[in-house]
Amino acid sequence: MRFDIVTLFPELFPGFLSGSLLGAARAAGLIEVSVTDIRDHASGIHRQVDDRPFGGGPGMLLMPGPVVECVEAVQRCDPRPGQVILLSPGGRRLDQELVESLARRERLVLVCGRYEGFDARIAPALDAEEFSIGDYVLSGGEVAAMVIIDAVSRLVPGVIGDAESARQDSFSGADRLVEGPQYTRPREFRGLPVPEILLSGDHARIATWRHEQAREATRRRAECSPNTR
Ligand code: SAM
Repeated sequence: MRFDIVTLFPELFPGFLSGSLLGAARAAGLIEVSVTDIRDHASGIHRQVDDRPFGGGPGMLLMPGPVVECVEAVQRCDPRPGQVILLSPGGRRLDQELVESLARRERLVLVCGRYEGFDARIAPALDAEEFSIGDYVLSGGEVAAMVIIDAVSRLVPGVIGDAESARQDSFSGADRLVEGPQYTRPREFRGLPVPEILLSGDHARIATWRHEQAREATRRRAECSPNTR
């Protein structure tokens, strides 16, 4: 799986890409990540990338020229055509189902907006999809790109040592339940005991109990977050 990040702030990525699972996955050649600065594709002595919106209004918009030319140059760096994704609060909201479909692609090109966002012609010019990571506004698409890279990479075979663990995670599996409560040692902490059934060694009953707990956790979550499924 290859990720290309297109951004005005490439300096935000090295720490994120080198730590923990992602660092190990890159070192093992399971994922490949390339970061490109939009400003390298801007012209003029000021290498301008943004301008005022037609019709008035606050702030600046990313101009189509530098963004489109940057993405076209990035696409030429690898023979696999990348699916272009513009990070945008108004885009399709990311969920685990969408993450799973992205993990089946060979290459994603993640374009990070800034300021007031993208000129509206950028998406059709690049045949891009627009994705949001939630109903709130960030200062830029970089954190959203990191979210997508992290969530998708976990599903790339080999990135997580135990593939079964990803299959049992929240929102995974056919019923897309959230995970129920889990416990480790000690058996009692500040008067709070581990449920007896988890110590019983009866794997069938434990599996049934866990499923019930997951259903209950999912129901409670739906009550306090009505926009969820
Ligand atoms: N004026 C835009 C609006 O109201 O929809 C907000 C622009 S925001 C300040 C700047 C950039 O941050 C966006 O172009 C986008 O790339 C990124 N961004 C902000 N919120 C996001 C979200 N929820 N999901 C994905 N990207 C987001």
